[in-house]
Amino acid sequence: MAVLIDVILPLAISATYTYRVPDNMPCPQIGTRVLVPLAKKEVVGIVSNLHTSPVEDSIRLRDVLEIMDPYTILSDEQLTLWRWIADYYMCPLGDVMAAALPAKAMDRQYTMAENKRRRVKLDTFSDELEEKKPLTPAQTAAYESINNQFKSKDIVLLQGVTSSGKTEVYIHLIADQLAQGHQVLYLVPEIALTTQLTDRLQRVFGNQLRVYHSRVSDAQRVEIYRQQRLDESPRLIVGARSAVFLPFSHLGLVIMDEEHELSYKQQEPAPRYHARSVAIMLAHNVRAKVLLGTATPSVESRYNAEQGKYGYVCLSERYQGLQLPKITLIDLQRQYKRKEMYDHFSDPLVARMREELDKHKQIILFQNRRGYAPFMQCTRCGAIPKCTDCDVSLTFHMASRQLVCHYCGATTPVPAVCPHCGGEMKIHGFGTEKLEDEVHNLFPDARVARMDLDTTRKKNDYEDIINAFSRHEVDILIGTQMVTKGLHFDDVSLVAVLSADHLLSQPDFRSAERAYQMLEQVSGRAGRKGSAGEVIIQTFDPTNPIFDYLRNHATEQMYMNQIAERETFRFPPFHRQISLILRHSDEQRLWAAASLLHTRLQQVFGARVTDVVTPSVAKVQKMFIRQINIRIEAKANIAKAKQMISEQIAYVLALPACKGVVVLPDVDPV
Ligand code: ADP
Ligand code: ZN
Repeated sequence: MAVLIDVILPLAISATYTYRVPDNMPCPQIGTRVLVPLAKKEVVGIVSNLHTSPVEDSIRLRDVLEIMDPYTILSDEQLTLWRWIADYYMCPLGDVMAAALPAKAMDRQYTMAENKRRRVKLDTFSDELEEKKPLTPAQTAAYESINNQFKSKDIVLLQGVTSSGKTEVYIHLIADQLAQGHQVLYLVPEIALTTQLTDRLQRVFGNQLRVYHSRVSDAQRVEIYRQQRLDESPRLIVGARSAVFLPFSHLGLVIMDEEHELSYKQQEPAPRYHARSVAIMLAHNVRAKVLLGTATPSVESRYNAEQGKYGYVCLSERYQGLQLPKITLIDLQRQYKRKEMYDHFSDPLVARMREELDKHKQIILFQNRRGYAPFMQCTRCGAIPKCTDCDVSLTFHMASRQLVCHYCGATTPVPAVCPHCGGEMKIHGFGTEKLEDEVHNLFPDARVARMDLDTTRKKNDYEDIINAFSRHEVDILIGTQMVTKGLHFDDVSLVAVLSADHLLSQPDFRSAERAYQMLEQVSGRAGRKGSAGEVIIQTFDPTNPIFDYLRNHATEQMYMNQIAERETFRFPPFHRQISLILRHSDEQRLWAAASLLHTRLQQVFGARVTDVVTPSVAKVQKMFIRQINIRIEAKANIAKAKQMISEQIAYVLALPACKGVVVLPDVDPV
């Protein structure tokens, strides 16, 4: 008999490849890296299966070239998790591997065996540890309730208002786990991984802490991975979404902070996984517990708690009895009519800013658009410069004097006159860059910083801005949603949302939920220490019901309203959604494929399939995009439904008329 192995290769193919183990080679274990030939190349893959076959049947198979490590790089539990992800998110195992391992781990040069010469240095922390802070009575109650509920539930949702001290509660739970010799995985949105958080954890846990995210170098990530796999490593991992792929041998608890955050969902490339679902599976497989924490739970998680699937703990008091901020709305229509505006600032906002600056307080201004102006338009013929490769208008950037596509990054110089008719070009709308200009004009003496994608491109930029603001070297911080994420500044007394309307007008069933979360989170930055803060929201739509919820911080009522809507319109969590995203550079061909697939899906799923949708951005990087949404009853057999969908996709893609069309399933899109 010949020994055969199946190998996962870093390719977007659904099947694994099979190779023969030559007679003079020991049989590699499942989870070992091997070097195998692929066409004319040699590639690294991971053994996913072992079997045997009669020698004569294995003649056409190629031989494994090399076993690369003395250890398996992947545990059985990890492989189980990978398989679950591939099934659940309808993607090849090769894609899961690419997402799960640091790039270098697939390098031929890399070895799991410790190599003293090449050993990578990881950050080490001071050994002088601090005691954890004693919990307040409210925090103690939450802590005890979490522990009690973990006796009967695997997952608990902790809904704690901003600044209630969720992090302190986590620290106590982590300490308990470490004392029992367990590991803890602490997940946070990428952007929240600042020294603000890691300093706090490191002071208590010292070198038991490791930080794992995209700004850690690949070499360091590989070293952390190796240590975790060989279990030589510290016990508390703080990381962004991809940390769910690290090996754990004694995992006791997963904490997912800001569980509602969209950045937990990977969008590109596949697998389009949600770190919350993966973390829950990861914990489930090894009988660890999961704590989801947030001030503004996702509708899905809150629903699971309501249904008793998750435990539920509330922490409704801010630390030191701090008041939640007062929310003031400003009706922009009225302000413009009365000409009580200075650029994009209403007179009352300017007055309040001036008062706070006089009191040496700090201010955060939130506008969820970067650049100077979202588009330019010809005043004569109405033409709007668009990206040649994407179906979007170009954003005007003042600093670089360029028009920039925010989808593909393409840039062109700003046209002096309209390229079509020679008319005069005017900018419309405003982004953070313009806001900065306006603030300088209004408050020439104030120290201003801006935090958005454009000002945080270099490694330490983000950190530097946060630190400067923390040290009160900056009076006014202007930013996009980056400023809404779990940061603590003691002197911020006023937060202003320059225009809430863009947030409210998204054509999506989650738009109200998201707008609420974003606005509630950004207002959580106001009034941290000492006095209650204020949040001023400028809007053309002051009667929108969302503002009533916000004004009262009525997160629960907001949820009730949303869940009722979701049920009426058959949205998640009552129905599960699977979106199929179709792409091709030829719009005609794409249409043909989309209609065909749509027809066939309808034959199987009937009214559960929507029409072919043209997304609001229907072309990106020369590729046209169409979408088909399928919504399946939550109680239905979802695995079977996915299989039927995959069969239809495979059928359609095999047709000559659909050649080259890409179909990307997006399971539970957000
Ligand atoms: P949340 O994560 O709920 O927004 P944090 O845990 O970050 O809130 O707490 C907000 C602030 O209050 C932090 O500066 C934190 O150090 C402080 N704080 C919270 N609980 C305590 C406590 N028990 N003892 C001392 N300081 C606390
Ligand atoms: Zn573009």
